[in-house]
Amino acid sequence: MNVYDSELVARILDNKDISPTDSAEAADYIFINTCSVRDKAELKVLNRLKHLEALKKKNTSLVIGVIGCMAQNLKEEILENKPFVNFVLGPDSYGKLSALLDAEKPWEVKEVHTDLSKYETYDYIYPLRNGGNSAMIAIMRGCDKMCTFCIVPFTRGRERSKSAESVVNEIKQAVAEGFREVTLLGQNVNSYDDGDLKFPDLMERVAQIKGVKRIRFTSPHPQDASDELIEVMLKYDNICNHIHLPLQSGSDSMLERMNRNYTKEEFISLAEKFKKRIPGIAISTDIIVGFCGETEEEFSDTLDVVRRVKFDSAFMFKYSERPHTAAFKRMPDDVPEELKGERLTRLIELQKINALEINKKLVGKTLEVQIEKISKKSDDHYIGRTDSNKLVVLPKNGKVPGDFLKALITEAAGITLFGEPVSL
Ligand code: SAH
Repeated sequence: MNVYDSELVARILDNKDISPTDSAEAADYIFINTCSVRDKAELKVLNRLKHLEALKKKNTSLVIGVIGCMAQNLKEEILENKPFVNFVLGPDSYGKLSALLDAEKPWEVKEVHTDLSKYETYDYIYPLRNGGNSAMIAIMRGCDKMCTFCIVPFTRGRERSKSAESVVNEIKQAVAEGFREVTLLGQNVNSYDDGDLKFPDLMERVAQIKGVKRIRFTSPHPQDASDELIEVMLKYDNICNHIHLPLQSGSDSMLERMNRNYTKEEFISLAEKFKKRIPGIAISTDIIVGFCGETEEEFSDTLDVVRRVKFDSAFMFKYSERPHTAAFKRMPDDVPEELKGERLTRLIELQKINALEINKKLVGKTLEVQIEKISKKSDDHYIGRTDSNKLVVLPKNGKVPGDFLKALITEAAGITLFGEPVSL
């Protein structure tokens, strides 16, 4: 979502003839797009700001902007303690940037806009994409789910959807620019709501756009991952065989404390339904360990779900307390840091074993891969991605990033597959 938001801001800057540079020292304007979802992300930004303060001392006409969720969350701190920051713009205020840049001496301006909107979808800005294989498209913004651990509803506000017409037009334009893959984004994509048109209907409209070879989406809330969604995934070949179903915890009592609205067994049945109905589907997830009051027994329920569902991949986090949230207000963050770390390690170990087991079953299969970029480890190899979102390393063979090819999977190492191009 932040990649997409940065692309919106890049367009606003481009409209003012402000073009990118690789060097912070050479820049006249520096905008940091920030995330508040975990405290680690915020700490990184605070460190970066120290560096920018030093740059501003050397170059007094440097314009510095802090945008995104942290702007929303830390506006007081930035206003009081960071006088070198010029613009503070929350996720619904990027539209204000254009006028701010018109100031005669923008480096002397101090403006803070963090109001949240019920309507802003930025359907009037076409993002300026900087390469990449997948054109990201935010189809909805905000979140109404109110998970007790999560800051998103407070930094990004209420749910609202971009019109289907605007989504379709944006995708057509991306296809015209050469993109063959799109990723539909939302905090909660299956809350998409354009009148009678819901998320599965939107997917159907997108799947019918000429030239769209792959459609990804993230993330649906398990509670609303409906049969209609399965039907549309089955109906269209260009909808990728992958779903991200954030589990968060495998324990009923924890899920209740988290306000997730499903039980352990309901989640397992849902994952099984997806696997049964859509053969070969990859399922990824998000898991938090050490949420308020997590007992060893509750944590072992999480391990149990991971053992039973066997996720293809998982993002796993230690719980960190976030301001404004119900957990912050009402539940003590009482699992010791060391224990959180220990549980995270145990979870990661289990997930690694599962992922390798799943990936080993792909050895000997021929899969379609889209080339993404040169491998970090070898200039003679590319990294590509399968329909089910797995990375494949394969030798260069006259193809270029963006191209599709068939690859025979020869080896699985952790989450990475190795392959050889095949001609059919
Ligand atoms: N609505 C998005 C959530 C984005 S945040 C989605 O469903 O994908 C991505 C993940 O960060 C969440 O799924 C959750 O696992 C994790 N997360 C959110 N708040 C957190 C917190 N306070 N501490 C640790 N991890 C958190």
